[in-house]
Amino acid sequence: MRPDLFEAPDYYNLDDLLTEEHKLIRDAARAWVKRDVSPIIEQAAQDAKFPKSIIPGLAEIGAFGPYIPEQYGGAGLDQISYGLIMQEIERGDSGVRSTASVQSSLVMYPIWKYGSEEQRNKFLPKLASGEFMGSFGLTEPDHGSNPSGMVTNFKDMGDHYLLNGAKLWISNSPFCDVAVVWAKNEEGCIHGLIVERGMEGFSTPETHNKWSLRASATGELIFQDVKVPKENLLPNKSGLGAPLGCLDSARYGIAWGAIGAAMDCYDTALRYAKERIQFGKPIAAFQLQQKKLAEMITEITKAQLLALRLGQLKNEDRATSAQISMAKRNNVDMAIKIAREARQILGGMGITGEYSIMRHMMNLESVITYEGTHDIHLLITGLDITGENAFK
Ligand SMILES: Cc1cc2nc3c(=O)[nH]c(=O)nc-3n(C[C@H](O)[C@H](O)[C@H](O)COP(=O)(O)OP(=O)(O)OC[C@H]3O[C@@H](n4cnc5c(N)ncnc54)[C@H](O)[C@@H]3O)c2cc1C
Repeated sequence: MRPDLFEAPDYYNLDDLLTEEHKLIRDAARAWVKRDVSPIIEQAAQDAKFPKSIIPGLAEIGAFGPYIPEQYGGAGLDQISYGLIMQEIERGDSGVRSTASVQSSLVMYPIWKYGSEEQRNKFLPKLASGEFMGSFGLTEPDHGSNPSGMVTNFKDMGDHYLLNGAKLWISNSPFCDVAVVWAKNEEGCIHGLIVERGMEGFSTPETHNKWSLRASATGELIFQDVKVPKENLLPNKSGLGAPLGCLDSARYGIAWGAIGAAMDCYDTALRYAKERIQFGKPIAAFQLQQKKLAEMITEITKAQLLALRLGQLKNEDRATSAQISMAKRNNVDMAIKIAREARQILGGMGITGEYSIMRHMMNLESVITYEGTHDIHLLITGLDITGENAFK
């Protein structure tokens, strides 16, 4: 892969709306991605291997639990800082951002929000430092967009719970130390359980042959009569709203992350268009290429504004789930379209691993599907504005 020459577009001077702390955090993440992610990520994706060597760096830039209080090992930052970190990581690779998102929003968040003080103290500092890696098990083979139908279940056996079932498409599963697993009790109520590696009957086979998110490990979580200690049940929230609360946080991070992937594609395409000569002049001088580039920067700028305003609402604890859905849907769609257009600007070179565009494009095919598909988020907006549920 070529040297990383990334320069972030900021067409509407949005930096002026950030605090000095935001910019310091963002710039540290940006520099880390350039130094430690860009040189290795193409090979990791080609090899379909999550590069574990970057775990300490992710912890160092505050990517594991950016908004988790410092007393639990988190970085204690605001929501805009969290978003900016996700943007920079996904500028490098959506798979790396996925690892950080799962760790922060889908593992640390539920333990922090729904866990006991003992659970917080036991797990959060190790997750924040990267000593423990986590996964989040909601999706099942027969229940993706409709997680309420889940069949994974646990029975109260007196001194422990007995967990049975299977989860599919689980990021980080092959190497996770702990998994936050959503399962129904005997009354059919959904609860979160912390399942730890080494528990008998718990296995995590990897899913191979992915063409997308190749630098992120994806797998199953299988539970065959797993004895889960009673102190591993998250006590403070139950029902579908509990996992959906985690998804709100992760989807918010994705809304920012997708901007990073789009910025990288735009920046690469702009540079290439200025340098590539055809018919005696740079292809950037042709109107058709300018249309592509001009529309890209317009869409990136709109997405940046959406994410920043959502971050302000999140900081004030006023962002609704439907507002988060709109931003996730819009920004991922924006990024995938930009990746496709940017790839065309590079002509044949666009399909090679010399440039990051094709990898971003393939990654975004997962990002547009996970954490609620593109269509499901549209239905969430539809329900919010009409009051009519079009899911069933
Ligand atoms: C790489 C990757 C990593 C993932 N990581 C995780 C993870 O860490 N943890 C986790 O729990 N899950 C994870 N997922 C799962 C992901 O969240 C699901 O794939 C997603 O929710 C969609 O579920 P599904 O694949 O079963 O598709 P389905 O639910 O079967 O949907 C198939 C199609 O039908 C459409 N559809 C479904 N219902 C409706 C409806 N009511 N109206 C209109 N259209 C509808 C969908 O929009 C979609 O286009 C991951 C997925 C991928 C690909």
